[in-house]
Amino acid sequence: MTMTISRQTVIPITELEQSAFCRSDGNLRTQTLEEEFKAGVRWQKIPTRYLKLSPEEIDSGIAEARKALGNQVVLLGHHYQREDVIKYADFRGDSYLLSKQAAAVKEARAIVFCGVHFMAETADILSSDRQSVILPNMAAGCSMADMANIEQVEDCWDDLGSVLGETGQVIPITYMNSTAAIKALCGRNNGIVCTSSNADRAFKWAYERGERVLFLPDQHLGRNTALKMGIPETDMVVWNPFKQMGGLTPEQIRRARVILWQGHCSVHTRFTTRQIEDARKKYPDVKVIVHPECTRETVAAADYVGSTEYIQKTVNAAPAGSVWGVGTEINMVSRLARENPDKTVFCLDPVVCPCATMYRIHPAYVLWVLEGLVAGLVINRIEVPAGTKADARIALDRMLEISE
Ligand code: SF4
Repeated sequence: MTMTISRQTVIPITELEQSAFCRSDGNLRTQTLEEEFKAGVRWQKIPTRYLKLSPEEIDSGIAEARKALGNQVVLLGHHYQREDVIKYADFRGDSYLLSKQAAAVKEARAIVFCGVHFMAETADILSSDRQSVILPNMAAGCSMADMANIEQVEDCWDDLGSVLGETGQVIPITYMNSTAAIKALCGRNNGIVCTSSNADRAFKWAYERGERVLFLPDQHLGRNTALKMGIPETDMVVWNPFKQMGGLTPEQIRRARVILWQGHCSVHTRFTTRQIEDARKKYPDVKVIVHPECTRETVAAADYVGSTEYIQKTVNAAPAGSVWGVGTEINMVSRLARENPDKTVFCLDPVVCPCATMYRIHPAYVLWVLEGLVAGLVINRIEVPAGTKADARIALDRMLEISE
């Protein structure tokens, strides 16, 4: 008897909440937590005394807590964090740099990760067992990471095995922006983790070991990387986790060299070729630089494409007077503009739309977890189970090896 399984499309709640902080008036000033709660997204519950604290009260509270904790705590801040959080960071960077930083910080007993959930998981995998990794607000997920859960990916892996056989030579590559469980699946199955800085090296590594790549969870980074390596789009298919066999025929799977998971970043897919045309009309000398999580068309229309670190280095090194239209998260673009006053730096998207999950790290949450540490409490510890950690570590170590 054939069983029919119906798979209903479920849009992650983080994706539905993405536009909550978008502002057409460009005003992204930090307000009290009580005010920001009105944005209508999920926030983690926090003791009420933190809701009404002014920026000055939070500032002095954080300074006091940090003084008491000394080098027992280190704060890591992702480039997409708001200014009122990044100012507290001991180190700032993209997810790759921060994961290396987490592995290098030996003395701190607590790592407070001002980023999103998958980054804190990675820090937990790479740091030592005596260290605790803390995510200030547990509601800070990532809509892209939420587009691939481990059950869906295990189903996909089994389905691919049933078409291609046990030795189907599919090498799984997962972008850093995925859960620890998916990284572990890659570790167990001869796969690797990559970031937007080293995705091409991960593809090369994979093709030295197999015939096909399953790329998770961002179809755009996967497609843009494969195209850059000369793989035509006709050799790629998109796996839709809500359809039987990903919505593909066995023949399509057998012919494919790249199987792209149907996920995307709700921040970077906002950038369009129309915005690039508008920028070129306004500034004929503009250089357009975008992140590879943007769509293929946007990437093709840009002058430069690269990771957040690449974007930062390129704009910082550009000559005075140059003009930059940037396609990445608004907090990072605003900071680039502030730090390069001799250049014109602007975001391609006229609507100010921060990453709504990163934005949930409000400074009051940072104060809450730091005061917890002072009182001997570890609030919001991110702990990856030992087995998952060991397998994920294999895939992460492979990435660190190809990145040396
Ligand atoms: S910018 Fe996109 S990929 Fe990065 S954390 Fe936000 S939703 Fe996730």
